[in-house]
Amino acid sequence: MAFTSEFKTWWFHWFRCPSCSFGTFSAYARAEYQEQPPRLLFRFRCKRCGQDSKLTHPHLNMLIGFAASVILFLVVFWVALIEGGWGISSVLVLLLGVATLWVLNCALSRVVNRYVSVARVEL
Ligand SMILES: [Zn+2]
Repeated sequence: MAFTSEFKTWWFHWFRCPSCSFGTFSAYARAEYQEQPPRLLFRFRCKRCGQDSKLTHPHLNMLIGFAASVILFLVVFWVALIEGGWGISSVLVLLLGVATLWVLNCALSRVVNRYVSVARVEL
């Protein structure tokens, strides 16, 4: 393993332990980077039972976030075109869009995030 970070609390990130079914919006996780083969693993640790787990589909959140960001960019660009440049309505749409994406991300993590147990590793 080439790199690992400390466990930190990820606020507003849904976690449900596959071992004890403990659920919370404050996941306890760290990133682990492996060189051969190159791979990034997000390891989640249950605050109740201590079991380690990982996301079943780790790329799903990134894909949804990227698609939502592209849609937000298109909407802000469309508003800027109508307005004839950057104006107060473009900035308001951008700020409202970022706030909406943040709330949707929290809600979507409750539906999308599924976890599978992995062996506990102390580094
Ligand atoms: Zn647990």
